[in-house]
Amino acid sequence: MHSKERVLSFEAARSIVEQHAASIRLPATETIALDASSSRILAEPIAADRDVPPFPRAMRDGYAIRASDLTNLPASLKILGEVKAGSDPSAFHVEPGQAVSIMTGAPAPVGADAVVMVEHTSSAGDVVEVAKGVASGDNIVPTGAEARRGDSLLAPGTRIDEAVIAVAASVGKARIQVYVRPKVAILSTGDELVGINETPGPSQIRNSNSYSLAAQVRKAGGEPAILPIAPDEKTRLRSLIEEGLQNDLLLLSGGVSVGRYDFVEQVLEDLGAEFFFTGALIQPGRPVVFGRVRETHFFGLPGNPVSTMVTFELFARPILEALGGAAPRPLRFLHAKLKTAITRKPGLKRFLPATLSGEFENAEVELTPWQGSGDLTSTARANCYAIIAADREYFPAGEWAPVLIR
Ligand code: AMP
Ligand code: MG
Repeated sequence: MHSKERVLSFEAARSIVEQHAASIRLPATETIALDASSSRILAEPIAADRDVPPFPRAMRDGYAIRASDLTNLPASLKILGEVKAGSDPSAFHVEPGQAVSIMTGAPAPVGADAVVMVEHTSSAGDVVEVAKGVASGDNIVPTGAEARRGDSLLAPGTRIDEAVIAVAASVGKARIQVYVRPKVAILSTGDELVGINETPGPSQIRNSNSYSLAAQVRKAGGEPAILPIAPDEKTRLRSLIEEGLQNDLLLLSGGVSVGRYDFVEQVLEDLGAEFFFTGALIQPGRPVVFGRVRETHFFGLPGNPVSTMVTFELFARPILEALGGAAPRPLRFLHAKLKTAITRKPGLKRFLPATLSGEFENAEVELTPWQGSGDLTSTARANCYAIIAADREYFPAGEWAPVLIR
């Protein structure tokens, strides 16, 4: 153990991480094809290149009319012609007593101030009879109602999803500036570990954490670099940690508990690390460590595979996202009713593998039976983590609990 033991509540630890995330400098940028930008982080503001919509847009199929013509119903109007999506409406000027047949998405002709839905009309030849009145403006989105030319539509830091891609496409951004993905070193430690292509001896296990972490890093927008397994021996551990610190972030797995061969913190301290916390009152993942050597943040994640996954989600993700230029976002939870009552000793906030089922107001969550924070199999069968508060012992069936989706 190093000298500065600092065990915090989950909330305090999370808030320290968020403070650090907020002070991280923006990364470099690159320009890529819009079509390849999904899940990247936008690095440029996206502005409207013209008014949105660029013309008064019909929201319904029907007739573009003057609302004042519909005060006495039914009203008979003369049909001048038709505008469909994409056609030029300037051929028409709607005068009192006149209508233009119009399709959804088409520009409303000058003179018309509303669209009456086709369902409320019947036509014969060039006359339409309207059975229902409308107010001025009904069923027409005015020019510029969504945005004016030059308005900012999306800010840098936005995660690019299908809706963002649609906006970028709509303003003609075939190429888009995004932040470069942060490089994240992953260093698993432990004398018992062998590579996934090796046959473990009777007391050895395969290194799975490097791969689960790499998957989480990718999901969070980073580029993982898996380092060789570090033994529980200081010299080699130190040189691998130094190599890991050449990246934007270093994730260590294992070696942060109080065991006699848990050297990670000692080696980091020898390298001049500052430690922001060395534990959090959570289960799984209590021994989680967060710190920095010079400019580079690191996390010492407990080696128990479920602890490694949970502590990455809770603490490492915000730092990784900030390194990737993403605007900060809070942890997001769903809520579901506990399917069965839960009794736990208070004092730790628990993030327990669980199965979410049911929909809407019937969402239910049930803890997956497990053999503790090393139980990968039951975690892989679960689909979420149920969060059990630290301040109570008993949680009755039917109580709403927050659920962290994996
Ligand atoms: P540690 O945090 O080093 O005390 O490890 C806690 C437990 O997690 C031990 O049972 C380890 O064998 C296991 N473990 C540690 N690192 C890994 C890893 N990279 N992959 C799978 N299991 C691990
Ligand atoms: Mg170990």
